[in-house]
Amino acid sequence: MPKLCLVPTPIGNLEDITLRSLRILKEADIIFAEDTRVTKKLLNHFEIQQHVIPFHAHNEHRSLQSAIERIKGMNLAVLVSDAGTPGISDPGFLLARECVNEGIEVECLPGPTALIPALVASGFPCDRFCFEGFLPHKKGRQTKLIQLEQEERTVILYESPHRLVKCLGQIEEFMGAERKVCVVRELSKMFEEYKRGTAKEVKEYYEQHPPKGEIVVIIEGKNGKN
Ligand code: SAM
Repeated sequence: MPKLCLVPTPIGNLEDITLRSLRILKEADIIFAEDTRVTKKLLNHFEIQQHVIPFHAHNEHRSLQSAIERIKGMNLAVLVSDAGTPGISDPGFLLARECVNEGIEVECLPGPTALIPALVASGFPCDRFCFEGFLPHKKGRQTKLIQLEQEERTVILYESPHRLVKCLGQIEEFMGAERKVCVVRELSKMFEEYKRGTAKEVKEYYEQHPPKGEIVVIIEGKNGKN
């Protein structure tokens, strides 16, 4: 019986890979990767000799049918993205869905992802939350922010460093200057940082200290409750 296993990979600190992920990577008949160079570096670090096949984000739809045909001919196929959990703001969803539709067993190992540690360390309620990934860059961005203004659950966004100040300015504009946020930067890396405060305060901080690296923005729900 063929099986697809989605394997999370570290988002910064290589120690975050699990023992089970290493075993599954070793046992796989085939490894599909978002970027084969990134994955080969990871495999080399752990002395895993495996052939890696590209599964591109930009042609995920096109890669799909050939991947499905290959998976059907093997016992264990693995999909990894460059970092974190495949399918979470990364390629993975379409392949998982197609496998489910084709009756192929699908499993995702527990492991690294940026949103959960950022949420839990923010100090905002994490019993219920809403993950929005990256906001649309242009069309639909304002509509989404207006919609999120009403959200009572803690909201999680992924954001790039060069758009962070704009994003915090828009949180201030659409959700109010006093809305509390926590910007989590460079999780599990040397310059890991948490900046907590109102949207206005945190925006002013990053205007003075232009951020680098990878960022998660956590926004307290409306009325500060879940
Ligand atoms: N699949 C990944 C996951 O499971 O979190 C997300 C991939 S998405 C293309 C990359 C975004 O995730 C970054 O732009 C940033 O918003 C967030 N991210 C990834 N690694 C991070 C880290 N070490 N610290 C903070 N945010 C991170």
